Amino acid sequence: MADDWIVIGLEAWQAQGVQLFGTDVNNWRFVCPACGHVQTRADWLALGMNRRQVDQRLGFTCIGRWLDPLNTATDFQRSKGSGCDYVGDREPNISPITVIITPGEERPTFGWDQP
Ligand SMILES: [Zn+2]
Repeated sequence: MADDWIVIGLEAWQAQGVQLFGTDVNNWRFVCPACGHVQTRADWLALGMNRRQVDQRLGFTCIGRWLDPLNTATDFQRSKGSGCDYVGDREPNISPITVIITPGEERPTFGWDQP
């Protein structure tokens, strides 16, 4: 698995997101490396979190940690599955992408869904 890991700078990673899903970050789709559940920023915002709370978790933590405990999932979200409780700082880190936010600050990040 380690051979598949990608280390990428923040700007290059953002460029990938735009290329795959367009400029609206809310539509970028991430795949949980633990359960395969696909999630978007819009899904997270629908939970009622503010943007800062969402951006701290997006692509880092599976939305399943919040969907079921809060029981706030919409029928549409439930139809896509409920996710799991994976969080990116868990050992072992299985997130396939490491985004270098700033030199010395790296963030394990979920892989992209295929558009
Ligand atoms: Zn998951």
